[in-house]
Amino acid sequence: MSNTAKTTWVSVKPGSDFPIQNLPYGIFKTASHSPRAGVAIGDFILDLAVLGAAGKFSGIVQDVSVFSKPTLNSFIALGKPVTNKIRNRIIELLSEENTELQNDIALREQVFVNQSDATMLLPVQIPNYTDFYSSIEHATNVGKLFRPDNPLMPNWKHLPVGYHGRASSIVVSGTPIRRPKGQTKTDDMPMPVFGASKALDIELEMAFVVGKETDMGESVSTASAEDYIFGMLLFNDWSARDIQRWEYVPLGPFLGKNFGSSVSPWLVPLEALKNFRVEAPKKDTEILPYLQQSGLANFDIQLEVELTTPSGESAVISKSNTKYLYWSIAQQLAHHTVNGCNIQVGDMYASGTISGPTPDSLGSLLEITEGGKKALYLAEGIERKYLQDGDTITLRAFAEKDGVRIGFGSCVGTILPAHS
Ligand code: MN
Repeated sequence: MSNTAKTTWVSVKPGSDFPIQNLPYGIFKTASHSPRAGVAIGDFILDLAVLGAAGKFSGIVQDVSVFSKPTLNSFIALGKPVTNKIRNRIIELLSEENTELQNDIALREQVFVNQSDATMLLPVQIPNYTDFYSSIEHATNVGKLFRPDNPLMPNWKHLPVGYHGRASSIVVSGTPIRRPKGQTKTDDMPMPVFGASKALDIELEMAFVVGKETDMGESVSTASAEDYIFGMLLFNDWSARDIQRWEYVPLGPFLGKNFGSSVSPWLVPLEALKNFRVEAPKKDTEILPYLQQSGLANFDIQLEVELTTPSGESAVISKSNTKYLYWSIAQQLAHHTVNGCNIQVGDMYASGTISGPTPDSLGSLLEITEGGKKALYLAEGIERKYLQDGDTITLRAFAEKDGVRIGFGSCVGTILPAHS
């Protein structure tokens, strides 16, 4: 048994997001399978409920009903000492040299489901959702639109800025997003008006999912933060800029954000990302001791945004990377809990829009079009300032090194017209 097994007897196509080194968890259903936990391997899903019922996790998990639930919360709540043993056991069962499942033809027929036959559901029930603002490039670009001479607020380099978002409207990839309506007002208008947003945008983000709760009053240090983080997924924080611009002062984002956020269905455990750690960007401002972090704080995960128009034209409009994040996931969680705020299993903490230093690495249309001033050219006769009805946005993420690709799959959403 080995964590570093390079090959599996399962057929995995070159370039797949889901080699044996990844093994992300998700919740799926099919015509004949009730919602349950699975692991992605190549183009297949390994059905953990069937494996559990067949006794393949005996000695690790007593109550295998954790695999037959419609969310991963009770599985994740078993804790890393247990979930890491399950991960190692799955690696063992799928490894080329292991014949236990490989030679059990009857069980093999039950345990593999084609991803194309399955519907993916939200991986976790989300008790709480917070969105950070951790990319210095994004914060600077957005700040410049409002305050050209002083884009970063004085607090920005001292703490990971964030806001409490809405958990109930986080949906899984593939769920359409209805264009929101709301109140908007520009400086030249005497009165606000009500109507469908004319400035619907995306935010390219990643989120981490909490795997271990704390009690109120307790704080999590940067050094121990990753013990509380189960894994990561893609996150699109859809944003109505015209609603946001009018409503956000002084308490921050509200109805310009909470009409919907999309996540990718596969939750990649931190253990799959350990070979992709990199240093965080250098900080030129001293930070307080509780936020200081040593070691490789960030991950080198490549990100991209693709826009597909209703006429079928597609263009990759941004390529970014989580390594640009000024504040790491450990610093985000340490800051969130420093006041004693409790965290719960399934909580989602998104990074904020992840922009890079170059014009092709901006994570929102707000930045790409400079607040809707500069149209984005997509194809002959097709331009965008913000999203139009029928547009589809696909976020993708993967870490890749030494021939190993840890993919996150995709996070897709199509814009429906506003309700009349
Ligand atoms: Mn955001």
